[in-house]
Amino acid sequence: MQTAKRGGVAKEAAQRCYVGLGANLPHQGLAGVALLEAAIGALVEEGVAICAVSSAWRSPPWPPGAETEGQPDYLNAVVETAAGALDPAALLDRLLAVERRFGRERRARWAARTLDLDIIDFAGATVSRPGLTLPHPRAHERAFVLAPLCELAPDWRHPRLGETARALLARLPDQGVERVAALRFRDCEGGASRIS
Ligand code: AMP
Repeated sequence: MQTAKRGGVAKEAAQRCYVGLGANLPHQGLAGVALLEAAIGALVEEGVAICAVSSAWRSPPWPPGAETEGQPDYLNAVVETAAGALDPAALLDRLLAVERRFGRERRARWAARTLDLDIIDFAGATVSRPGLTLPHPRAHERAFVLAPLCELAPDWRHPRLGETARALLARLPDQGVERVAALRFRDCEGGASRIS
């Protein structure tokens, strides 16, 4: 597996937040790797500084079975940002703004989507309230989250379960995820584009 590279200065571990991206429909001529790269650019424009980016990974539609039958495969990635001045609600607002920019429509729960953005972990916070659950309640079950997260932070510990990303991924059955390509992004320092 190619290791994703970190851009800019490494942030304090206590500040690190992870956001999952998933997409399986085109939007305005963008699809696949190009759509994920554009989504990462849109996050930066919305004030979410990007410190590190995983590769793009292909995964079968989730959950497996009749609800997602016939949907195209997803491309997924995980990005690291620093909490900085944001609190979890403010980060979620920015993610929802980016989803709207990508024409996200909320239809059936497991419907195909142009862009899905989830807070996987916000600096180790545990939150359970309407509209926000942290860490993401299903992250530990999903190889399309844990495989890219392992590129960035294999020793990341699940704030509730206390287990590392590496251990959680090793425990999952094969879910058919595969690494596709590096992703280009602008790092926290606003420097030149980097490749994960
Ligand atoms: P979906 O895009 O279908 O995954 O659902 C998004 C909704 O889930 C958002 O409007 C949030 O209110 C809610 N939600 C709860 N916890 C999270 C989280 N950790 N990350 C993103 N959305 C969350």
